[in-house]
Amino acid sequence: MQPTPIARVLTEVERATDEIIDFAAALVRVPTVNPPGEAYEACAQLLGGRLRDCGFEVEHLVPEDRPEHSSRYPRVNVLGRRTGSAPGGSVVHLNGHLDVVPAGEGWTCDPFGGVVRDGRLYGRGSSDMKAGIAAAVYAAEALRRADIPLVGGIEISGTVDEESGGLAGVAWLAEQGHLSADRTDYVIIPEPFGPGRICVGHRGVYWFDLVTTGHTAHGSMPFLGVNAIDQMTTVLEAIKTRLAPRLASRTTALPVVPSEARQATLNLNSIIGGQIGPAAQTPCVPDRCVATFDRRFLPEESLEAVKAEVERLLTELADEHPGLRCELRDRMVVQPLRTPEDSPLVRALSTAAETVTGSATLVASPGTYDHKHVARIAGIEQCVAYGPGTLELAHQPDEWCGVDDIVQATQVLALTLLELAGGAAPRG
Ligand SMILES: [Zn+2]
Repeated sequence: MQPTPIARVLTEVERATDEIIDFAAALVRVPTVNPPGEAYEACAQLLGGRLRDCGFEVEHLVPEDRPEHSSRYPRVNVLGRRTGSAPGGSVVHLNGHLDVVPAGEGWTCDPFGGVVRDGRLYGRGSSDMKAGIAAAVYAAEALRRADIPLVGGIEISGTVDEESGGLAGVAWLAEQGHLSADRTDYVIIPEPFGPGRICVGHRGVYWFDLVTTGHTAHGSMPFLGVNAIDQMTTVLEAIKTRLAPRLASRTTALPVVPSEARQATLNLNSIIGGQIGPAAQTPCVPDRCVATFDRRFLPEESLEAVKAEVERLLTELADEHPGLRCELRDRMVVQPLRTPEDSPLVRALSTAAETVTGSATLVASPGTYDHKHVARIAGIEQCVAYGPGTLELAHQPDEWCGVDDIVQATQVLALTLLELAGGAAPRG
């Protein structure tokens, strides 16, 4: 009896294990550190070459109009396409970011050595997310090696700058129409959630500044001035004792992992006040202090309510402390996102994860990633993150990704492609 397409695809991934791990290690060895955005060109060439070997038509796309792009640190995105035989088939796009965060301190191995030891690939970007890129390439390749005809199409992109906002990467690709709902039905981003977890979205992000304004005076006569840093201390105390407990009492139904991130949260990112730096100081009362906050809000909260809550606190403080002047200024907003659980993409990935790993859990991310650009700019509603690795290891010293994880995630992605783009899958 002929093995089923599912069995053939799983076998092809298994057979390619060494190739997949070697390719993931080769990607780790290209130090695409961002900031500043090093070695993108080399990494895009490496990925583009492998995609070509695997039957993709490949384009390298350079965002010349973006300020991040420079001759010293060129931004190079890569996009590969394999088109199916029948019109009307579904097109699945797999997108991975090429960049990694700086290695930082505390490593016991070379962060860019791409060493495989005791069943783990070590290195900066091994989990986040070069193993995921390798898994995407070999998931598509497994279908080809198993002689599965494509009805729909498969696209694979490697993009820049996710760690710094993705504006020259996925956002730019979407703005230029390279990634668009007109052509692409589903997007999978192989971020490191692990082989049994599918990430359907994230909380909202609201970054804002609070600015206190005082009155400068000679530092020997501080009673003649109004100290803006003292004012900020009052504001910070109120945030800690009045606002923070309220936020901690709110939880979302979104299955955010880790579960502590199911609350509304507020982080103080930075405070700048007075005379900055080690240079000689003059005797002055600081008349301005700026504190920057990162508020993560729940889909159950609206941005308007989130802002109004801060404004209310500032009004209370102004009443209680005559002369306290504190202003709220917006910095950045990302709305919460959630791909519907009954989407064909979530169903196909869940079934595939159950087949390969025995379980499939839907989760949501504590932070945002390129999903926002896929949803908001490209207009593609069905987007999830699914890939090998451990979220908690991302950005840590001695980051690693399990070889078994990589193989399993590749199998799950391959079965998902088989379901959505292979055989006679209907367009969903
Ligand atoms: Zn990532």
